[in-house]
Amino acid sequence: MKVVLENLTKIFPSRNKKSGEEVIAVNDFTFTIPDGKLIGLLGPSGCGKSTTLYMISGLQKPTSGKIYFGEDDVTELSTENRGVGLVFQNYALYPHMTVMQNILFPLQNLKGKDKLSKDEMLERAHNAARLVQIDELMDRKPSELSGGQQQRVAIARALVKMPRVLLLDEPLSNLDARLRLQTREEIRRIQRETGITTVFVTHDQEEAMSISDMIVVMKLGVVQQIGKPQEVYDNPVNLFVAKFLGTPPINVFEGKVEGGKIFVGDDAVLEISGVEDQEVMIGIRPEGFELNENGPMKCKLSSVEVMGRDVSIVSTNPASTNPVIRSIINADNKLDTSAEYVRYAIKPHKLFIFNKKTEERIYFEVK
Ligand code: ADP
Ligand code: MG
Repeated sequence: MKVVLENLTKIFPSRNKKSGEEVIAVNDFTFTIPDGKLIGLLGPSGCGKSTTLYMISGLQKPTSGKIYFGEDDVTELSTENRGVGLVFQNYALYPHMTVMQNILFPLQNLKGKDKLSKDEMLERAHNAARLVQIDELMDRKPSELSGGQQQRVAIARALVKMPRVLLLDEPLSNLDARLRLQTREEIRRIQRETGITTVFVTHDQEEAMSISDMIVVMKLGVVQQIGKPQEVYDNPVNLFVAKFLGTPPINVFEGKVEGGKIFVGDDAVLEISGVEDQEVMIGIRPEGFELNENGPMKCKLSSVEVMGRDVSIVSTNPASTNPVIRSIINADNKLDTSAEYVRYAIKPHKLFIFNKKTEERIYFEVK
């Protein structure tokens, strides 16, 4: 089921009638979520992710704009009539019910033509439980489960109605690091197996990148960029997106373009064409540095962290906007760790420049 968001906008009135300003939580969001894909909705806290999800679910009504499931206009439909499965950060299971009863619960209220027989309900519940691998735990109460197991129950409960669209709002945030990793892979597997169009909200870029077919990066209610995770990482449209994706994060420098060269501080690191002389912000991905004793970029060496396959070199440079620069270098490279300075050549496709005022990307050709 494709999901069409058309000029979707949500404005909350100010809480303080006299002085407060209204909040544009979601501003003119247009996107068609392709059938059967998992979309990661990504951005910092308060950027409008949950509000977008609540509008898709019907929990909140858009101020303007339309939502279609396939060809159906669902904008005015209630949550119950949309056929969505919802999973939240806190699992919100009924504590006095067993796992089985929790999963059955959404089916017991079905009315009219949707009403199921007892056998049908049990079969659906068992299928959903098997899918999330909790079929051994059906008689337990939520308090007898780990956080990860509780979240699986919540997912099974969302799946049991065979939703047209699955909506997950930070579903992993309450889990510890190891469970988070495992559960996100589970969600990916379940989504692939069921083929349900899924929207996954998270503020964690690594989480979004690792499981999404496409990511949507938001800032202050406005969509910044939509694309496959690798494409967005490789080709950010602005400094915000460049900084939001990647661990370690991109290194950002003050610099300029002058006479067909990009300068980081005073170092001319790249010859380019197609850009007028101007001051710019420069982003270099950690993997964009190459050790080269004749390299144009000179940095003061602080420390070297061995990570096995790679080493992480921490250095400083006066033009850097961060206290330190992090570069990731293949461990096969020989580095004199007692040296005072390192010199780098820069891989052109790992360096981006941005307008100093608007922070929009400036595109160049490498000479
Ligand atoms: P996210 O999920 O990305 O953290 P939200 O969608 O929850 O962000 O919120 C987006 C913006 O809308 C925030 O500025 C938030 O304070 C505001 N907001 C969310 N819900 C309400 C509400 N019910 N009333 C007023 N403002 C709200
Ligand atoms: Mg939220």
